[in-house]
Amino acid sequence: MPLFLFLCVVLGGAALWWIWSRRRARAALLAQPLSDWARQVVAREVPLTRRLPLFLRERFEGKVNLFLHQVEFIGCDGLDVTDEMRLSIAAQACLLVANSDAWYRDLRTVLVYPGAFQSLRAERQGYVVTERRTVRLGESWQHGPVVLSWQHSEAGALDEGDGRNVVLHEFAHQLDGLSGQTDGAPLMARGQSFAAWRRVIVEAFERHLRQVQAGRRTVIDAYGAEGPEEFFAVSIELFFERPEALQADEPDLYAQLVALLRLDPLRWD
Ligand SMILES: [Zn+2]
Repeated sequence: MPLFLFLCVVLGGAALWWIWSRRRARAALLAQPLSDWARQVVAREVPLTRRLPLFLRERFEGKVNLFLHQVEFIGCDGLDVTDEMRLSIAAQACLLVANSDAWYRDLRTVLVYPGAFQSLRAERQGYVVTERRTVRLGESWQHGPVVLSWQHSEAGALDEGDGRNVVLHEFAHQLDGLSGQTDGAPLMARGQSFAAWRRVIVEAFERHLRQVQAGRRTVIDAYGAEGPEEFFAVSIELFFERPEALQADEPDLYAQLVALLRLDPLRWD
């Protein structure tokens, strides 16, 4: 056998073996249940997960395992990130994709600050770019990282009925970004029509914008008027934490989110 052909066979075999072993490791993590201790922490720190239907629990726990294996948590400003913190953030992030084929495939890092943090944002007006410092509770970058305030991540999870959750919000941006752009147009679920999604979300966003501009109180957080991507993220927060309110206010949007995430929190116990 010529040397070139021999090298091709060896390298091809090594690549196939690498892909196969990675898939096997992933499948093993997805099949592994959480320990009793981790399950108790998740139930205590993220009460919303207690409402997950039984048939989804196994998938959900496997995804929490995969998330913890894939993502490195880095404490900022002297924060020591504990296992409880990791579990709380991972459980909130995985709630979104508990029954979905979508996965945070590019995410490798979550930065955690003790509380609200300062972020430097470049703003462009024509040819002029200015940098502005803003105080933030969370931030999501395309292809990662996600940056979170632990104080607000924990409080948002513990109060599961106020419609606000910074972790769900930032991971909704991650999900949105899987399509290549963070613009309120995420990858559709299998069999979901993008045309129907687009029509519903554009109409709902424009209605929301008009209400906010008119100074009316809105069910969906007024921050959603910042753009379709923020509208998507604040709608996700409401979808999990106050599903009845979102369904009453925007039934078509609620139905599209049910189809996208293949979850229906209104039917949860
Ligand atoms: Zn946002």
